[in-house]
Formats: sequence, structure tokens, C-alpha cells
Amino acid sequence: MEKKNIDWSNIGFGYIPTEKRYVSNFKDGAWDDGVLTEDATVQISECAGVLQYAQTVFEGLKAYTTENGQIVIFRPDLNAERLAQSAKRLEMPVFPEDRFIDAVVKVVEANEAYVPPYGSGATLYIRPYMFGSSSVIGVKPAQEYQFRVFATPVGPYFKGGAKPITIKVSDYDRAAPHGTGGIKAGLNYAMSLHAIVQAHEEGFDENMYLDAATRTKVEETGGANFLFVTKDNKVVTPKSDSILPSITRRSLVHVAKEYLGLEVEEREIYFDEVKDFAECGLCGTAAVISPVGRINDHGNVITFPSGMDEMGPVTKKLYETLTGIQMGRIEAPEGWIKVIK
Ligand SMILES: *Cc1c(COP(=O)(O)O)cnc(C)c1O
Repeated sequence: MEKKNIDWSNIGFGYIPTEKRYVSNFKDGAWDDGVLTEDATVQISECAGVLQYAQTVFEGLKAYTTENGQIVIFRPDLNAERLAQSAKRLEMPVFPEDRFIDAVVKVVEANEAYVPPYGSGATLYIRPYMFGSSSVIGVKPAQEYQFRVFATPVGPYFKGGAKPITIKVSDYDRAAPHGTGGIKAGLNYAMSLHAIVQAHEEGFDENMYLDAATRTKVEETGGANFLFVTKDNKVVTPKSDSILPSITRRSLVHVAKEYLGLEVEEREIYFDEVKDFAECGLCGTAAVISPVGRINDHGNVITFPSGMDEMGPVTKKLYETLTGIQMGRIEAPEGWIKVIK
């Protein structure tokens, strides 16, 4: 398979259309067989449920070339399961989980020329999503839906090493108690855009959102969960129904316990405790872990002992172990790696 002539290490995180994408339509109470298509456009009613009332959910995962040249994806069963949970919460039909994995595999296979080579730092980002496609004007769920999967190559998240970022405690809330914070839906991102644009204008990289009810507990950022490390090397991560259950975070918790022998606590974390932690990182599929060096709470600045030059030592071990598992350098737990070819 001849790879595309792309400068893999310099492509950044943007949309580069690839050859084939998967489409399946839900109509009259059933999903059709689904096809791969070259058509990168979507044609729907001007009154489609997604356009009027934001009835849409999505997933994100990556295909990698491993050290021995295999193309693999990481824990797609968890993405399938999470998309099903997200769909149910927005009154959308579930796309069967086995068919989800099959569709992802088909899209990666069809776009093999776009899977970046091992060592480039780049990966093939895969975006499964679904939306209400039939017309809705009175507020109710759509009758028809479209499930799609496309793939786009993305460059290395960290060019020239992972530099710690600076974040701010946001004055906005991300998710309400009993709301939709725990599902992967575009609506949670739409409302975060104003907050992130403002944060960037103020010179911050990300927002830390606190719990909306009391504004005393750490939730997450717009698109990544928090991991903290205590001064005695315990890994601590927030537990809340209104944070998105990150697959990367859940995997890192397993790695911390089973590969690194660290103690892990998943519990409510008060913002007041944050100043006592030794390390902080943001976890998600995009970066695996992005180290946080500094948190600004309305002018009160917390600088972690790990500082602004490099990842903290425990964060770094977690990062290297999980990326080692993904890239085939370290043996993976049973069922984590799905080999495509
Ligand atoms: C997708 C997402 C994450 C990260 O989840 P992963 O499964 O690790 O990619 C974290 N927070 C939010 C709000 C997200 O949408």
C-alpha cells in the first residue's frame, strides 16, 4: 500500500478529507445496511433535527501504525458503548455496537494510505457521529437519523516535546447536575466556544470548569478529564456524573494501578486541594496527556512543582506507558488493541 505523499510531522489538527467514509441511515425504525462512499457532503432537510435542536452525538478515536507495522485501533468497544449511551440520552436510536466497530474498521481499511507511518507522531483520527436528519419543528426527536464515520490524518499533538500549559478557572459552567455533561454531544461543545475564545484572548490555553452547583469541585476542561498526582505519588482523578467518561482517563487509571503499581483514587476533588498536588495533566484521545504547569484562579496562581518546562515524572511515566501500549512497544491488556491489518 502506497502511502499518501503527506508531510506527516507537520499537518497539525485539521480536517483533511480522505477517500472513503461510511454512511448508514435510520428510517422507518431500522438502520439500513450502510455503505462506504466518496461523497464527503451531507444533504438533509433545512428543518433537520440536528440543525434546529442540536440532536447530534459523536465519538473520537485513532488508528496507529505500530512498531511492527500493524495498523491498530484502541478500545473501539468503549467508543461504541459510549456513543450508545450518548444517543439514548438524546432520544436517538442506538447504532449497534458491533456494527459501529465494523464501520470504523471499514473506514480505516479504505483509507489505509492515510494512516501515518510509525514514528511520525501523526495518527489517523476517526470521527463517528450521528444526527437527526428528518424535519422537526415542534420540539421532539427526529424520525430519521444518519450515522457516519470519516477519518482524517492529524499531526503529532506535541511538536518538540510536551510543554506544560496554563489554564484558568472559568466563570462559565460546562454542565449542570443531572444535565448532559456525561455524554459526548456537540451541544456541550457549542456552549464552551465563547468561554474558550475568551480564555485564549486572555492568554490561557484551556478552561478548568468547576461543578455548577457549588463551584467548589473540579470537573474537567472543555474536552479533557483531569488527572492529578499527589506529593506521595498517588494518582487522583475527579468523580462526577457531569464529566465525560474519558476512555483515555479510564485506561490511564488501569495503567497506573496495574503497570506502575500506583495507588489511584477516583473521588470528588475540591479546588482547595489542587494547590497541594505535585502534578496535573489533561487526558483525552487527542494528546493522551497534556501536562498542566499552572492554574490561574482569578489572579491566584498555582504553579505545580513539576513546573513549566516539562511533564511531571509520574505523568510522564503514565504517558509513556499508555503510548507504548498503543504503539505496540509494551504488551497491552487483553482486548485493548484491535488489529486492523
Ligand atoms: C471526548 C472528551 C474527553 C476525552 O475522552 P477520550 O475518550 O479520552 O477521548 C473528555 N472530556 C470531554 C468533554 C470530551 O468530549
